[in-house]
Amino acid sequence: MRIDLLTLFPEMCETVMAESIIGRARRKGAVQVCCHQIRDYAYDKHQRVDDSPFGGGMGMLMMAEPIALCMDGLIRHLGYKPHTVYLSPQGKTLTQRRVKELSRLDGLVLLCGHYEGVDERVLEEYADEEISVGDYVVTGGELPALIVADAVCRMMPGVLADEECFQMESHYHSLLEYPQYTRPASWRGREVPPVLLTGHHENVRKWRREQALLRTFRKRPELLVSADLTKEDRDFLKELAGKDAAARKPDAKSSI
Ligand code: SAM
Repeated sequence: MRIDLLTLFPEMCETVMAESIIGRARRKGAVQVCCHQIRDYAYDKHQRVDDSPFGGGMGMLMMAEPIALCMDGLIRHLGYKPHTVYLSPQGKTLTQRRVKELSRLDGLVLLCGHYEGVDERVLEEYADEEISVGDYVVTGGELPALIVADAVCRMMPGVLADEECFQMESHYHSLLEYPQYTRPASWRGREVPPVLLTGHHENVRKWRREQALLRTFRKRPELLVSADLTKEDRDFLKELAGKDAAARKPDAKSSI
């Protein structure tokens, strides 16, 4: 897969995407990431990429033409138009499900806005969708684009050691991940759950599944609606809900 980031800060994006797991994956060719400077496509002698909004108002807007020229150059170079995402606080909030779908594409363009955003007409012309990283506003699309790029890259074959790495993780199956521990087995008086030290694979699997269900039930119960649950899972959750309800009931004697 190839990801192209269109930005006014390609060095910032390049620095992040050169590090750690994604950097290694790029070097071994598991994924290709290219960062493009939109300012290189400015057509006036001052290399201007922004102007004030028609109708007045605060701040500046990125002009349509430099972005369009950058997109056109890329489309010419690739020979096709890749799926194009504009990072925007107005977009649909990113989910693991959408990440999985995006990771199946051959090419993905991530367009980063800045200032007050971009001229609407360039979005009409090129953007296939808008993605948000949450209901808050950051100064530019670079951090959101890097989040999308990182999340998509780690799903590509050969990026993580094993597919199981992400399949067991939070959100992949609409469940949160179970708690994890490493050496030492005893730390500041806190012990690792004994079952994890037994080497009994089936008991460890069962404990982890129950912990994932318990965490999801307590922290993000709304996720359980789309989780793929077995009868055993449902029985466990029913029992858990009963225990929680009993714990909430005021004790008859103490309330007198
Ligand atoms: N005026 C815009 C609005 O109210 O919708 C916000 C502009 S924001 C200061 C500048 C750029 O940051 C946006 O064009 C977008 O690319 C990016 N951005 C800001 N918050 C974002 C978010 N939550 N998700 C994705 N991109 C975001």
